[in-house]
Amino acid sequence: MTLLAAGAPPARRKQIVIVGGGFAGIAAARALKRADADIILIDRRNHHIFQPLLYQVATAVLAPSEIAAPIRQLAYEQKNVTVMLAEVTGVYLNSRSIEASCPGTGIRRLQFDYLIVATGMRPSYFGHDEFAKYAPGLKTLSDAENIRAKILGAYELADTTDDDNERVRQMTFVLVGAGPTGVELAASMAQLATVTLRGQFRRIDPAESSILLVEGGKRILPTFADRLAAKAARRLGKLGVKILTGVKVEKVDANGVVADGTRIPSATVLWTAGVAPSPLVKLLGAKTDRAGRVAVGPCMDVEGASGVFVVGDASSVASDDGRPVPGVAQAAIQQGRYVGRLIARQLKGRAPKRPFRYVDKGSMSVVGKNFAILETRHLRMSGFITWFIWVFVHLMALPQLQNRLRVQRQWFWSYFTGQRSSRLIPEAPSGGIREPTVERISAS
Ligand SMILES: Cc1cc2nc3c(=O)[nH]c(=O)nc-3n(C[C@H](O)[C@H](O)[C@H](O)COP(=O)(O)OP(=O)(O)OC[C@H]3O[C@@H](n4cnc5c(N)ncnc54)[C@H](O)[C@@H]3O)c2cc1C
Repeated sequence: MTLLAAGAPPARRKQIVIVGGGFAGIAAARALKRADADIILIDRRNHHIFQPLLYQVATAVLAPSEIAAPIRQLAYEQKNVTVMLAEVTGVYLNSRSIEASCPGTGIRRLQFDYLIVATGMRPSYFGHDEFAKYAPGLKTLSDAENIRAKILGAYELADTTDDDNERVRQMTFVLVGAGPTGVELAASMAQLATVTLRGQFRRIDPAESSILLVEGGKRILPTFADRLAAKAARRLGKLGVKILTGVKVEKVDANGVVADGTRIPSATVLWTAGVAPSPLVKLLGAKTDRAGRVAVGPCMDVEGASGVFVVGDASSVASDDGRPVPGVAQAAIQQGRYVGRLIARQLKGRAPKRPFRYVDKGSMSVVGKNFAILETRHLRMSGFITWFIWVFVHLMALPQLQNRLRVQRQWFWSYFTGQRSSRLIPEAPSGGIREPTVERISAS
């Protein structure tokens, strides 16, 4: 039996601060379930977003609440976790503390023994931040809702204008960037135009819309094998999406884009081209890669800062074959879980874990109804069966049972009727609408 010296203070429980309630942050918290520590999980939003289905919110298939879950709800059964709604604005490694800006109550300073930074990425305009005003990126629920309002609003404006050029501008949609998000969004927009909106307007035919997918690189889906990307491109072509590869967007403004010196008039330009890490990681003062992500050590640790880790999209680490671990949900979950378990072991005084090893379960991209592509180390697949696998994998990966049930019901409805249940424009569409003119009719 160990006797405490009289008056000796009880040992303080270790404090673990996790910044970010995305895939990596939630996985880290869950891996610390049995840890004898106090965990503070901080996010500037009160909800976790299942980002792979954001494009379906942007194209009216799903409602925001179907792909998101309150972080508190995800953590409520785990008694050692306290959730805090706040934006972390400062990291002080010397005093082992962070500064958090809490809505309504101001700035708070919190001490940590361990810090896990899981703050993800944000859209990057490659030095042209002025494009952001006209070409929204897709990262948050409000981005998705704004994009949905922009797309649906464009059809409304096209239907009411008497100006032929303006009608064409409203019905021209430009997506910049042909990675998985650009491809999925373009295919879903094409099906919205040709199936969901068919016959719903009296003056325009939405099927005559131009959906342009503009890519600076040589081909779409650069992270997939040539053969799969070519199949996806053919599929997009069949859906009516026009692909422009090797084309650089030089300017984006209120009237559209200028690409390779040619102006393309468009009322809806969407940015799916690049990402940059959240600004918080800069405060760590750590070594970064070219994209600005923290170049972490083999245990996802920050060099020279013991007990500080960066996981998920904000980190840069190589996998076994020397290639960088991709910025995908699977990698974020594995890294978060790894660091959670590593800290749990340290708290028990057990030997450190082996370095992080990424298990690549493959990548998928869906191209409209009934078609998806799948690539793993040993397998390449495309078509209907792959699409079915995509449906299953995404349903199972949603954060809660209620999300799964609701998404399943919406997909079922949409699959058989072609209809989409979230075709709401919260406010009157703007951008292109002129000041109302009041016609005075004089009584004779
Ligand atoms: C539109 C889209 C589609 C995608 N599709 C796929 C797909 O099909 N398959 C796939 O595997 N991956 C996909 N991804 C990538 C995947 O979503 C990311 O790899 C994953 O979300 C990374 O997880 P994370 O925890 O690092 O970051 P995130 O999930 O982005 O979470 C970061 C969290 O940190 C919070 N945060 C940021 N800064 C602060 C701060 N200063 N203070 C407090 N909180 C902060 C944010 O609010 C957020 O909740 C997609 C991404 C997007 C945007």
